[in-house]
Amino acid sequence: MEPRYKRIVLKLSGEALAGEKGIGIDSNVVRMYAKQVKKIRDEGVETSIVVGGGNFWRGRDSKDMDRATSDYMGMLGTVMNALALQDALEQMGVVTRVMTAIEMQKVAEPYIRRRAIRHLEKGRVIIFSGGTGNPYFSTDTTAALRAAEIDAEVILLAKKGVDGIYDADPKLTPDAKKYEDLSYFEILSKELKIMDSTATSLCMDNKIPLIVFGIDNESNIYDVVMGKKLGTYVK
Ligand code: UDP
Repeated sequence: MEPRYKRIVLKLSGEALAGEKGIGIDSNVVRMYAKQVKKIRDEGVETSIVVGGGNFWRGRDSKDMDRATSDYMGMLGTVMNALALQDALEQMGVVTRVMTAIEMQKVAEPYIRRRAIRHLEKGRVIIFSGGTGNPYFSTDTTAALRAAEIDAEVILLAKKGVDGIYDADPKLTPDAKKYEDLSYFEILSKELKIMDSTATSLCMDNKIPLIVFGIDNESNIYDVVMGKKLGTYVK
């Protein structure tokens, strides 16, 4: 079976890397994602990953700090996650490059669009870290931005604890209904809290399809790339 996509952006939230602990990094969970990323790469899919940082710090959560400073702390958290993921992938023999939106060249290379595309063409897995490099943005917006820049066919928004987009929070509303397909306009007009509105608008304006699916399972990332219908499709 051929993979459904040639070039993807996989968005992994910080929370997803924390596993059951909720904070920090659970190396078993990171290995589980890395294993699937390796399988995807081995199928010839040009794979890039945008990592979040919520397992360490979220800028908006600190009420008594300057927001921009707090956001920079959040961006630094994403770099730690990127390194953990890189380490797990390299232990499996996958060639990776971490790229940072904020320059720190002793740690990883700076994000340069043409270089990123070249890495993908050479079969290297890229891990985009440092968000967009700007405060007041999110790593979901980063996923949308990078997907547009590198001309990815799809964004895979892998979610922990939920398997798609619902019309209400399924944890609070037991009869919440899951959407099979949805438009970006509906996400905005129904105020569905799946991504922030900046990320949603960017995807909508650039016509980047999105799949929202659960990753509390050992093969969903791989299955989605191979074309299995999981979660919610957004166009
Ligand atoms: N962040 C930022 N600019 C960006 C991306 C991220 O300022 O372009 C900061 C922001 O404070 C955010 C934190 O980094 O709360 C971690 O990212 P995010 O909350 O998106 O991570 P996730 O929820 O996916 O783990």
